Amino acid sequence: MHQRIRLLLPRFIDLLFPLSCLGCGNEGAWLCTSCERSLAPLLANHCPFCEAKTNFGNTCDSCRGRHFLDGAISCVPYAQPLIRSLIHSWKYNGVAHVTEYLARFVGLSLNRARQSAQRMQAPILATGIGKQALRSLADTPALLRGEPILLEPIPLHPKREKERGFNQSLLLAQRLAGAGASWRLSRSLSRTKKTAAQATLSGTDRRTNIAAAFELSDPEAVSGQHVVLVDDVITTGSTADALAQLLKEAGSISVWALTIAYGHPAHA
Ligand SMILES: [Zn+2]
Ligand SMILES: [Zn+2]
Repeated sequence: MHQRIRLLLPRFIDLLFPLSCLGCGNEGAWLCTSCERSLAPLLANHCPFCEAKTNFGNTCDSCRGRHFLDGAISCVPYAQPLIRSLIHSWKYNGVAHVTEYLARFVGLSLNRARQSAQRMQAPILATGIGKQALRSLADTPALLRGEPILLEPIPLHPKREKERGFNQSLLLAQRLAGAGASWRLSRSLSRTKKTAAQATLSGTDRRTNIAAAFELSDPEAVSGQHVVLVDDVITTGSTADALAQLLKEAGSISVWALTIAYGHPAHA
């Protein structure tokens, strides 16, 4: 609790409540160097919908027909205790300062993914542009190919954002936009109303129901673009999928999700 209080008071409060590491409790920083180093990426290499093994988290061939999201780059399982504790403090205890550590971790994970893309492509490309080489290039998300992309934070419901004081996805997207020269922050999506209860709806109805809770304010801005939806955790992928449908109907070339973690928070 004192971590929240200290955000609301001037800096001299540091003397009364020194920062303590969310990993080990040592004083001095929200995340000490040794805990930060211990945080290793374990990128999702499965389809976000059925968990079939795919490169980089591409949506698998059999889910492609039913879904709009091209895939999800997710850095680590939500079950990882340190990442869970960081995300929890970030979202629920108002420790917005944690953004910098999480953005750095996402940056490190993307570098790993980029290296593995290069390793996979080198031998294939060396043998000439065949069917397999083209497939491998098409499998690599624009985010890892260094192409211009729009980072679109998944908006929070305005009431939730007011309670929390910030939208964690926007904070993360802002940090990431500063890190990639060809990455631009876009805020074309907004939330219009609370999503109705999902439990009784089928897959397609569920997506339509979620899509109705969002609005695309500037369809021209996303047309002809590679869009990356930024969020903290991906669970069922249904929100990202509904947004991907809106974006693709407006002409986006590809829509991926980029999240810190994957898995089900309730089961973690
Ligand atoms: Zn520590
Ligand atoms: Zn699948």
